[in-house]
Amino acid sequence: MTTTVERERVRASARRTWWPDGLEAAIWVAAAIGVALMLRSGGLQIAAPVDLVYTLGRALGIVAAVLMLAQVLLVSRAPYIEQSVGHDRTTALHTRLGTWAIVLMLMHASIITGMSAYYDGRGLLDQAVTTFTSAWYLAAAQIALTAFFAVLATSIAIVRRRLRYESWHVVHLLVYIGIAGAVPHQFLEGSTFRDGGAAWWFWFALYTFAFGSLLVFRFAVPLWRLARHDPRVSEVTPLPDGSVSITVTGRDMDALGAKPGQFMLWRFLDSARWREAHPFSLSAKPTSTSLRLTVRPSGDFTRQLASLAPGTRVAAEGPLGIFTHSARQGHGLVLVAAGIGITPIRAMLEECDDSEPCTVIVRASGTADSPLLDEVEELVERAGASLHVLHGPRGDSWTPRDAPGGLADLVEGVGGRDVFICGPLAWADAVEADALACGVPRAAVHRERFAW
Ligand SMILES: Cc1cc2nc3c(=O)[nH]c(=O)nc-3n(C[C@H](O)[C@H](O)[C@H](O)COP(=O)(O)OP(=O)(O)OC[C@H]3O[C@@H](n4cnc5c(N)ncnc54)[C@H](O)[C@@H]3O)c2cc1C
Repeated sequence: MTTTVERERVRASARRTWWPDGLEAAIWVAAAIGVALMLRSGGLQIAAPVDLVYTLGRALGIVAAVLMLAQVLLVSRAPYIEQSVGHDRTTALHTRLGTWAIVLMLMHASIITGMSAYYDGRGLLDQAVTTFTSAWYLAAAQIALTAFFAVLATSIAIVRRRLRYESWHVVHLLVYIGIAGAVPHQFLEGSTFRDGGAAWWFWFALYTFAFGSLLVFRFAVPLWRLARHDPRVSEVTPLPDGSVSITVTGRDMDALGAKPGQFMLWRFLDSARWREAHPFSLSAKPTSTSLRLTVRPSGDFTRQLASLAPGTRVAAEGPLGIFTHSARQGHGLVLVAAGIGITPIRAMLEECDDSEPCTVIVRASGTADSPLLDEVEELVERAGASLHVLHGPRGDSWTPRDAPGGLADLVEGVGGRDVFICGPLAWADAVEADALACGVPRAAVHRERFAW
C-alpha cells in the first residue's frame, strides 16, 4: 500500500522534473518579451526589406542579453535554483544557454556592424574602427565581445580538456568583464532603458533579480556565514587508503540546512589555499556543531589537504545538490558507490533504519582502495541494511571481473527501490544502465557526478 510519505515523494519528484524545464521555458519567454518590447518601442525598421536584417540583429542582441542575465542567475547559487533544479542540471543549463548567449552576441555584433557598414557605405574594418572610436560604451561593448569570444573558445570541450581547471576558471571570469563592458551600450545605445515604461521596468526587474541573487548568495551570504558560524578546521584525519577526513566545526551549523548526500564548495582560508574553492560532499551527517568531508588526493589541491592546520577558517558555499533522501520515489533503497564516491553514500546511510529495505554496494579494487569502509560496515549493521563489498579487478561490467552479475542478482526487488549511484563516470553509467534494465524508473535513479 502506498503511504503518505511515498505519495509526497512522488509529488516532490514530479516537481523536480518540472522545475528545470519550467526554468528554461521562463528564460526563453523573458527573451521573447524583451524582443516584443523592443519591437513595440520602434525597433522594427521596414523602410526597405534589408532593414529586417538590422532588426534581426537588434533582436538577437536582446535575446543574448536575457540569456546572459540568466547566466548570472544560474551561477548565483541561489537556493531557489540549486535546491529545485539541482547543481549538475543547473551547470548543464548554464553551459548550454551560455554558449547560445555568446553565439547570439557574436551574431548581433556581426549583423549590426555589417548593416551599419552597408548603410554608411564603409568597409567592415573601417566600420568596426568607427564604432570603436565613436563612443566609449561602444568601445567597451567591442572589448566585451572579445572577452566573450575567449570564454567561448576555452569552453569548447576539446580546448577545455587541454587547459588546467584553474586556467579555464580564470578565463571564465572574463564573463564578468564582458558583462560589465556590454551593459552600458544597452543602457545608452539601445532603446531598452531609454524609453521608460514597460521596457524599463522589465529590464530593471531582470537586472535586479539576476545581480541581486549573485551579490546576495555568492558574496553576502558567505561573508555573513563566516561571521555567524565561524567555521574552522577542527580535525584532519588521514585514512589508510590515503584519503583524509576533515572536520569543520562552528556555531549553529545546523542552520546551514545541509542534508546527507549534499556537497559544498569549500574554500580553506590559509595563505596557500584561499584562492581556490573545490566541491566536496559531506561524508557524515551534519551535526549542530560540525560538518565533515573526506577527500581523496587526485591533484594539486587535494594532495596537500592533509597539511591543513586545525583552526584554519573555512568559507563554504552551499549546501548544494539534490542527491538526498528527499529525492526518493519508492519504498526501499540501494546505495551504490565506487572509490571516493562513498562519501555522500556514507552520509546518507546515517539516515537509514530498518523501516525500509536498504542495500549498500561498495565497489573498489581492494580494501586498500576503500575509504570509510569500516564506518560503512558499522552503519550498515546499525541500520539493519545489507552490504555487498565487490573487490577485484575491472571486468566488462561495473562488477569485478571474477564476480559478474548485477543489481538483479544482488538486490531482491530492485525495480521498486530508489538507486543512488556515486563513482567514476563510466562506471556509474554502467550501474545506471543496469538499474534501468532491472525496471527501476528513470526518476528513481539518482546520481552524483564528481566532475562538471
Ligand atoms: C559534486 C562533487 C562532489 C565531490 N565530492 C568529492 C568528495 O567527497 N571527495 C573527493 O575526494 N572528491 C570529490 N569531488 C571531486 C573533487 O572536487 C576534485 O577531485 C577536486 O576538486 C580536484 O582538485 P585538484 O586540484 O586536487 O585536482 P586537479 O587534478 O586539478 O583536478 C582534477 C579534476 O577535478 C575537477 N576540478 C578541479 N578543481 C575543481 C574545482 N575547483 N571545482 C570543480 N571541479 C574541479 C576538474 O574536472 C579536474 O579536471 C567532488 C566533485 C564534485 C563535482
